[in-house]
Amino acid sequence: MPSDCLFCRIVAGELPSSQIYADDDVVAIRDIAPQAPTHVLLLARKHVASVRELGPEQAGLMDRLFAAGAKLAEQEGVAADGYRLVVNVGRNGGQTVDHLHVHMLGGRPMTWPPG
Ligand code: 5GP
Ligand code: ZN
Repeated sequence: MPSDCLFCRIVAGELPSSQIYADDDVVAIRDIAPQAPTHVLLLARKHVASVRELGPEQAGLMDRLFAAGAKLAEQEGVAADGYRLVVNVGRNGGQTVDHLHVHMLGGRPMTWPPG
């Protein structure tokens, strides 16, 4: 675990977060700066910097992150009206924390294209 990685430290419990779900592969927390009434981050439990670094060792991980996002959207009551699952990759993609995560946003209509 990179000791300077914000999300590794959150996963390890070294930094506080409002955690709403955890399993062997995924830790879900509320985003500190929510961009929608419901904004959950699905963090990979093990450090992977981004989608670019995914390899055979992480087979199935994105499935589990997305499945957790879908499950939590139901649980949070935003699924029926629709929601968005987003993965930002790299600088142009808007990624600011280099630890693999999926955003689950809901509770308001989303626009397209994204900014
Ligand atoms: P990215 O921009 O990399 O796709 O997403 C990073 C997200 O992490 C942002 O939405 C940002 O608000 C959130 N974030 C940054 N620092 C913290 C933190 O310390 N705690 C929590 N819960 N979220 C954070
Ligand atoms: Zn990390």
